Amino acid sequence: MITLLPQCSAQEASYLQQAETLCREALEPFLLEDEQKEYFRRSVFDSFKQVGLTALLIPKVWGGLEQSPTLYYRLLTLLARYSASFSITVGVHQMIQAAILQFGSDSQKQMFLKPLATGNALGAFSLSESGSGSDASALKTTATLTPEGYRLNGTKLWCSNGSDADLFLVMARTGEAGPKGISAFIVLKNTPGFSIGKKEKKLGLKTSSLTELIFDQCLIPTTQLLGREGEGFKVALSQLDAGRIGIAATALGLAQEALERVWSAGCKEQFAFPVGLRSEWAAHYASLQAAYSLLLVAARERELGNPITTIASQCKLVISDLAMRMTSDAVETAGYAGIQPSFGLERLMRDAKALQIVEGTNQIQKLVLSRELEKQVQV
Ligand SMILES: Cc1cc2nc3c(=O)[nH]c(=O)nc-3n(C[C@H](O)[C@H](O)[C@H](O)COP(=O)(O)OP(=O)(O)OC[C@H]3O[C@@H](n4cnc5c(N)ncnc54)[C@H](O)[C@@H]3O)c2cc1C
Repeated sequence: MITLLPQCSAQEASYLQQAETLCREALEPFLLEDEQKEYFRRSVFDSFKQVGLTALLIPKVWGGLEQSPTLYYRLLTLLARYSASFSITVGVHQMIQAAILQFGSDSQKQMFLKPLATGNALGAFSLSESGSGSDASALKTTATLTPEGYRLNGTKLWCSNGSDADLFLVMARTGEAGPKGISAFIVLKNTPGFSIGKKEKKLGLKTSSLTELIFDQCLIPTTQLLGREGEGFKVALSQLDAGRIGIAATALGLAQEALERVWSAGCKEQFAFPVGLRSEWAAHYASLQAAYSLLLVAARERELGNPITTIASQCKLVISDLAMRMTSDAVETAGYAGIQPSFGLERLMRDAKALQIVEGTNQIQKLVLSRELEKQVQV
């Protein structure tokens, strides 16, 4: 396996080793079949919960392992080498937990965070709607306060884990237009008036479901409002930065996997690997190390509790673009084998493309970074 520096501690290595064994035993044998059927294998998630890997960052008191963001992002990179879809599933699951940890009351943590942390429930995050993807604060789903609770009405789109989740964090409008009129709600599967709509067909990340969520006079108790009324956009944004580093970690896994597969197959002469191509892949190796270093800086900033909006956008942009470049080059380098599903390279490329879009397109990351430059560099 390629070594990227700095290497992790012995304790981190032992967690990652456990995770890798689970991936090899529970995930790898079904990869091709599940990809073709676009099937999410819940038993893999269940096997991860047995060793606490579904809640690495959550304090022990709420059922987590209380580990560092660095280990968490390294875990996502490892998972992505087997399945970027699965890495996304775990990443989204973690986002919901972090939101409840940050904004929830103790009774909400007891009731909703614990089952998520122990892996007995799977989480999903729902912000996007038709017409409010990049411009998320324009969302139209409403939550109207009544004597019985909040009535939710509307349709959300592109909810990862949608078909499989037990608990959803849903952003809906309780007030004025724009970000200040949005609130966050914890919604349980099987709540009357809430149903899962169309499951999307998509290019990549095929084994992580992506669905509509439909609310029709769905009554949510006021105890399931997360944070204060009008704080929902803040709740969502607070998790998107950390989530973007997670997307970068996932992208890094795809890039690393592409390099290892191409190099080992090329050297075994499974396909032609001329000298020119060797030097191209050697250069990719250097880029991979640079990407890893950037990821670790971002993880460290999160660990220190520093603002991470800028570094998260840099990470997401640079590493997902690198993953796209490397996985696309991998397909080309392998020639015909590159486009054969059984060879495994084309899936890496399709998954990398989806990573350039999810959690804010890379164009939006450039917008975030140009605003930051405007602040920092006076003209
Ligand atoms: C695999 C996957 C999983 C997802 N999972 C979730 C999920 O779990 N929960 C959830 O809420 N959402 C999810 N999404 C939705 C995702 O966040 C949106 O797709 C994304 O924010 C882009 O929104 P859009 O598709 O509406 O594109 P649009 O906003 O319509 O953008 C179209 C194009 O215009 C560009 N653009 C838009 N605005 C600007 C601007 N101001 N300046 C410059 N360029 C701009 C974009 O970069 C893009 O190229 C997921 C998406 C994908 C692909």
